[in-house]
Amino acid sequence: MPNYSLPPSVFQRACELFPTPFHLYDERGIRETARELNHAFSWCEDYEEYFAVKALPNPAILRILKEERCGLDCSSETELMLAESCGFSGRDIMFSANAMPPEEFTYATKLGGFINLDDITHVPLLEKHGGVPPCVCLRYNPGGDFKIGNAIMGNPGEAKYGMTRAQLSSALRRLKEMGVRSFGLHAFLSSNTTDEWYYPTLARLLFQTAIELYRETGVAIAFINLSGGVGIPYRPEEKKSNMISIGAGVEAVYRDCFTSQGITGVAIKTEMGRYMTAPYGWLVSHAVHSKETYKHYIALDATACNLIRPAMYGSYHEVSVVGKENAPHDTCYDIVGSLCENNDKFAIDRMLPHIDMGDIVVIHDTGAHGFSMGYNYNGRLRSSEILYTESGEFKLIRRAETPADYFATLRGLEPSLDAVIKERE
Ligand SMILES: *Cc1c(COP(=O)(O)O)cnc(C)c1O
Repeated sequence: MPNYSLPPSVFQRACELFPTPFHLYDERGIRETARELNHAFSWCEDYEEYFAVKALPNPAILRILKEERCGLDCSSETELMLAESCGFSGRDIMFSANAMPPEEFTYATKLGGFINLDDITHVPLLEKHGGVPPCVCLRYNPGGDFKIGNAIMGNPGEAKYGMTRAQLSSALRRLKEMGVRSFGLHAFLSSNTTDEWYYPTLARLLFQTAIELYRETGVAIAFINLSGGVGIPYRPEEKKSNMISIGAGVEAVYRDCFTSQGITGVAIKTEMGRYMTAPYGWLVSHAVHSKETYKHYIALDATACNLIRPAMYGSYHEVSVVGKENAPHDTCYDIVGSLCENNDKFAIDRMLPHIDMGDIVVIHDTGAHGFSMGYNYNGRLRSSEILYTESGEFKLIRRAETPADYFATLRGLEPSLDAVIKERE
């Protein structure tokens, strides 16, 4: 069984109210995760999580996270627009872009957010785009492999993000001359890791680098940004990370590197996406077609357009058949969508209970990098998003796309298409 789920009756009730497919999100799970995270880092006087908007860019979710004292990590103009519209401003916005149009600096600075600078050549751009921000964070890329003990956890040398160690020093000096008053240091070195040593190991690297930079340049680092990358157990046999012990691990390193050296007041920031929301989202669909050839296929009314991770990364997502929780998992299926693309498969060779047409089939852990990575291949439309509230209600927080949405960028250019859309509405 999956590590976190809602009772089957919740999926059944949701399907009575809304046509499938849709992503369903559990408000309680998201709030409890944010509260536990804030508790895990409560030893730090100045701690803040900046939820990575790209993971789940729905305003209803962003407002919930705001109520739980989270900020937002934005990477584009539209993500900044979402942040602004949900009332985020100033120190609650982190703008972490790379190779972005420079006008986006102007917007982020206007909102008063922190600029998380990816490249040394962006330093002179800041003055021209929005003026010199009071506080800048620098993205560090140490190169080579990133190891925890002997295990290779990431490969920063192959990653497009961040600056080299030497570039960090020059960027700091130059930004100081330009009048930037306060600085942060950031690195993102591993993705979807459930190893509880990830944050503590990364923290030590960044704390030590901050101290070295101070000795070298005289510029003090005011905050350390541990970024995202904390994973979740997609597979049933995997274990959930214990955020309380991760927080305690970072605290021990903080004491060792900072407090015991008489360094105080350094703030900690994180930018998790997946950890915050992935387990609290489900792609809910119906089985619509059964086909037996060389394999037994079950087709859903959802496609990779609604969840691309299995097709793109070969990611595992747990699948369950609602109402058959206790039935024997005695049938081997490929669970597929309807795209004209053979990688449109949610699960391959998966042992599941016998599936009848019309059964509700739920794909788990779609609350991050799920809906947001959606696309329109084959002219398939994006689904709705539903919030299961703490009080047990179902709230439509995004309607499903219609053909008119799909064709919106052609409107007025193709009068005959406009006529067909109108006729079919
Ligand atoms: C994607 C991203 C995150 C969030 O990553 P998760 O794996 O979802 O935790 C955080 N910060 C930056 C800069 C990112 O690009």
